[in-house]
Formats: sequence, C-alpha cells, structure tokens
Amino acid sequence: MTDFQSIINNIHNQLINEEVKGVVASYIPELFKQDINSFGIFLQHIDGSTYSAGQAETPFSIQSISKVLALSKAIAFEDNRIWQRVDVEPSGNPFNHLSLLELENGIPRNPLINSGALVIADILLTHLKNPKEDFLNYVRTIANDQTINYNTKVAASEKRTGYTNYAAANLLKSFKNLTNDVDDVLDFYFHQCSIDMSCSQLAKAFYLFANSGKCVNNIQHIPVSQAKRINAIMLTCGFYDEAGEFAFRVGLPGKSGVGGGIVALLPNKFIISTWAPGLNAKGNSLLGMQALELFTTQTKLSIF
Ligand code: GLU
Repeated sequence: MTDFQSIINNIHNQLINEEVKGVVASYIPELFKQDINSFGIFLQHIDGSTYSAGQAETPFSIQSISKVLALSKAIAFEDNRIWQRVDVEPSGNPFNHLSLLELENGIPRNPLINSGALVIADILLTHLKNPKEDFLNYVRTIANDQTINYNTKVAASEKRTGYTNYAAANLLKSFKNLTNDVDDVLDFYFHQCSIDMSCSQLAKAFYLFANSGKCVNNIQHIPVSQAKRINAIMLTCGFYDEAGEFAFRVGLPGKSGVGGGIVALLPNKFIISTWAPGLNAKGNSLLGMQALELFTTQTKLSIF
C-alpha cells in the first residue's frame, strides 16, 4: 500500500527550504499581507482517510478556486442550459489578462476565467434567494464545515482595485450576458473569491468532483455527467495560461487561485490540496505545483 503520509512529509520537508518561493500577489493589496513561508499539503482519500503536512489547517484566500464551487452550484440549477452562456474552451491567457478579449459575442471562453465566472455569478444571483448567504451555506455543506466564512477585508480590498473586473462585467452587460445589476454581480463575485478555507476544507469541498457528484456526506449535488464535465474544464482551463504545463507536469484536473492555493484530484481516488502563497510568473503557486508534480511522480497516480 502507498504510504501517503511519508510521501507528503518528504515532499513538504524537501520544498519548505527552497530559496526560490515565487512572489505573493499584490494586485489585491490585502493578499500581499500573506507570509511567503506558509506551506501546507492535505490529501483526502476517497475512502475517507486523510494525510497532512505543514499548515494544512490554516485558512487562506481561495480566490479563483471558488469559481469551481460556483460553477457546480450554477450547474445544479441550470444543468446543460449553462453552456448557452459560457463556452468550454481554454483561453491560453495570463491570470491577470483583461478578460474582455476572451469574449466572443459576449460568450466567455470558459467558466474559470474572470468573465466566465461573472456570468456564473449572475446565474447564481438569479437563482439564490439570499445569494451571499446561500452560496456560503452551500460551500459549508459540501465541505461539511460550518466555520467557513467570507473575508470581508479581502472582498473590500478587491472591490477597491478590481478595475478590470468592472470593465469585464460592463462589457458582458452590454452583450446582454448579465441579467442582474453589474454592481450586484461584482459584489457577489468579490465575496465568493474572498472565502477563506484551509487545504483540508478545500479537499473536503472538492470531494464531490472526485466522487461522481456526491459530497463527503453522500448527498448528490450534481449529476455524474456534470462532475465529469467540471473535471474536464479544470484540466483544460484550471491554471490560467499554464493549464498545459500543469497537465504535463502533474497530470490531474485542478484549480489554482492567486491566494496560493491549488486543489487537484484523481476521480474515484483522492483530492489533494496545497497552499504556498508565492506565485510563479503565470500566477500559480510555485511550491504547490512542485509539490503536486513530486506527488504524482512518486505515487504514479495521475490521470495519464
Ligand atoms: N478575485 C481575483 C480576480 O478576479 C481572482 C484571481 C484568481 O485567483 O485567479 O482577479
């Protein structure tokens, strides 16, 4: 049997002393306060066993990782109608690229770029009675953890500096691909990105994507076929313009965020999450990617 705990410990010990750790995101000023030396790894096996190393229980800003959770909730409401408003092709653009250029006739390239995530936020605003409260409850439910919360300082920080997101939302509105008020959509989006979660909470929340749509409490949240689709979108679009490199080096569907988190999974096997706030030039966690590459190489567990 694979000794996951030793493998994760060794990877953590090997990488924690790396001198090159990347750069903490500063375009959302509140994120720049993160400690570059933070580093956690958590593995949730589908059989329920868990393994962790370092700061796996410390909450951090999940940022773009929230886009996958929002997408799953929107799919639960709209099923395949969702694809009329957002496409499923990789964008190949950098993480801070102005999403406007990725729009084709007002249809964003995929739901994991900012313009696509704004359309998803719009769908959730339409369906949820108390959007922010209900979405947070959804995240708490699938992670089986009532302590998860928004970080209102991070949301406010992004609201003050989120000029490109304002531009993208206004363009989407001009194409009639936002039905709600632009400010309401942005307010919801900034809040979903501001959610604080630890590696362990994230791995639990993503359990449903590795488990054919059923969460840790065995509740079916999305159809099996949509879990497959979300995993496909994570593989092709989950790492900005480094999705190819991530598939090449790690070989798992996953999603990163500029807070330094990464969640990746092997369907029917495990979910693994890492947090190290230093980002590489493409906006993905430098140590996180290295850790996941070592993990899939040493365990020989990847989709390829
Ligand atoms: N809230 C961030 C933004 O919209 C998310 C960026 C990210 O994690 O990719 O710019």
